[in-house]
Amino acid sequence: MTSSATLTEEKEPFLQPWQFFLLGGMLAATATVIVATGQSPANIIILSITVVAVSFVGLGAYRILSPLVSNQPEQPITIGGRTRVALEREKMLVLRSIKELEFDFAMGKIAQADFDEMSTRLRSRAVRLMKELDAGGGYRELIQKEVAERLSQQGTIRLKPDATLKVEAQGVCEACGTQNDTDAKFCKNCGARL
Ligand SMILES: [Zn+2]
Repeated sequence: MTSSATLTEEKEPFLQPWQFFLLGGMLAATATVIVATGQSPANIIILSITVVAVSFVGLGAYRILSPLVSNQPEQPITIGGRTRVALEREKMLVLRSIKELEFDFAMGKIAQADFDEMSTRLRSRAVRLMKELDAGGGYRELIQKEVAERLSQQGTIRLKPDATLKVEAQGVCEACGTQNDTDAKFCKNCGARL
């Protein structure tokens, strides 16, 4: 993971957390030896090992908890080598492209085949980005909310092309391709039933 790379960029504090815990463990072990004088050497060794082990458990707990309680400025969260911000930005651009594409299609600037191809490509890219972002942290709810919002916005835009397509499709003769009135029952050119 890249989080370790991010950690090494931090300024080194005077005493590294692991050094602190090791030092603490050794002091505790020494204290144990002093307190335990009179015990058999084997007992003292076992006690010392236990104390050091406990200090390592403490280090583990510190590692887990320190990001939660740390008041240092938040490190950029990286997913697959890229920052969350970069992924969010790319996702926004892709979603915007989808909207623009749909708008262009509604304006009749793009052919159906081209629209289908580009739309599929952009959508799969958007889904992939969202999955990447989703896998990267507890932003699931935020993303779902955002996606729902965007999809509902797209819904209003998408009504346009669908509506125009319907009007165009109505009254077109399947036999000769003539455009008739939308309420016509028979083709005015060849007489075929519509
Ligand atoms: Zn016809």
